[in-house]
Amino acid sequence: MSKTIAILGSTGSIGESALKVISKFNGDFRVAGLTTRRNILRLEQQVKKFRPSMVGVVESASFQDFSRSHGNNGLQIFGGTESLEKIATAPRVDLVLSGVVGAVGLKALLAALKMGRTVALANKESLIMAGSLVTETAKKYGATLLPVDSEHSAMFQCIQGQAGNPIHKIILTASGGPFYNFKGDLSKVTVEKALAHPNWVMGRKITVDSATLMNKGLEAIEAHFLFGVPLEKIQIVIHRQSIIHSAVEFEDGSILAQMSHPDMCLPIQYALTYPERKPCPIPRLDFAKMKQLDFAEPDFRKFPCLELALSAGKAGGTAPCVLSAANEVAVYAFLAGKIKFTDIPKIVARVLGKHKIIKKPGLEDILDADRGARREAEALC
Ligand code: MG
Repeated sequence: MSKTIAILGSTGSIGESALKVISKFNGDFRVAGLTTRRNILRLEQQVKKFRPSMVGVVESASFQDFSRSHGNNGLQIFGGTESLEKIATAPRVDLVLSGVVGAVGLKALLAALKMGRTVALANKESLIMAGSLVTETAKKYGATLLPVDSEHSAMFQCIQGQAGNPIHKIILTASGGPFYNFKGDLSKVTVEKALAHPNWVMGRKITVDSATLMNKGLEAIEAHFLFGVPLEKIQIVIHRQSIIHSAVEFEDGSILAQMSHPDMCLPIQYALTYPERKPCPIPRLDFAKMKQLDFAEPDFRKFPCLELALSAGKAGGTAPCVLSAANEVAVYAFLAGKIKFTDIPKIVARVLGKHKIIKKPGLEDILDADRGARREAEALC
């Protein structure tokens, strides 16, 4: 039986990879809806190929352009951020893949979970900003969250068949990003250098987050919420080869790890075909040729974003939301050439320092904290 899928953020890195997976399994999937922020040229090509019945275009000028040329051929076109929600909750969708970047994905995620839907989640910012709310909503409505992030997909794969066996510890691996061995002055690094990730091909925002190691801190918080494991039991380990995507230790000291060539196609495909496994066209690992796997402690002094994220995660409440919002603004300011690479943690720290944490926030508190943090961060940029 084919699965009907809606993809939020179909023109981004995750969305494109998901559509590649879908086109490979001809007939196993049907695409019901696609959304883009503003890449309507790419959206148009995707519409031709995958024939969805609905699309969403978030930015209004692009929405109007797209509507003008596609308004009368039976395609339902939604505009604005609400379009994400409309498509996530459209009838007869079996699985929603959220590959949007940033806080914009939260409402659509909550709406899909309230319908008891299965959501393959790549939009980590939603989980960071509202982790308790997201996981409680999923539980309350019997919805399923499938992790797409490679590390969390690894953890998820390691706990299959382990129902009833508590996780003793999570080992979250990190490539270390492009500046792990960098000896010079990080305040002078260019956008281009920050975007040159050694192992993974990803979107721009997450690639910068990997360079500051903020991404790993966000991923620790993400793992904490997805698997209900306290941050103290999540160990971050630098593993330059990105072969072990993460590991889980159980009560008896056994550690299960998931390994593969680093390519997002695999975790995306696993979320789409779960619980089945299907052939995946990425290079296979050969242990004899691999020879060695290296591990090291992360350098918290060189990458202050890591400590900032872990502290915000431990503080809980609205702190992770503020961290993520301030970081998002700072990263885009860096990408736009407005601030230095080393200003990113400074801005995040200042915004966090000013914030009064709300311990058990509702959706409105979270959205307020998000807006406030963005305003503060923008002023500092
Ligand atoms: Mg990751």
